Amino acid sequence: MYLQVLGSAAGGGFPQWNCNCANCDGLRKGTINARARTQSSIAVSEDGERWILINASPDICAQLASFPAMQPARACVIPVLRPWC
Ligand SMILES: [Zn+2]
Repeated sequence: MYLQVLGSAAGGGFPQWNCNCANCDGLRKGTINARARTQSSIAVSEDGERWILINASPDICAQLASFPAMQPARACVIPVLRPWC
């Protein structure tokens, strides 16, 4: 079983866009030792190839870009049902 933490911050990420607390302000100014984090999300896989995404957020594009194992490697085929046939 594989588990990848894609993000671990609260709903607005860190620093939170609408927050000016000491931590968020300190990160923006570079005065605290911390790293920016995206919103909470994880990916799990049994084989390291097929992943299940849990808790997709608006940060999903950046999270997928930072984790190449989840980037599409093949076309996705969606069956089309035609009830009139
Ligand atoms: Zn804050």
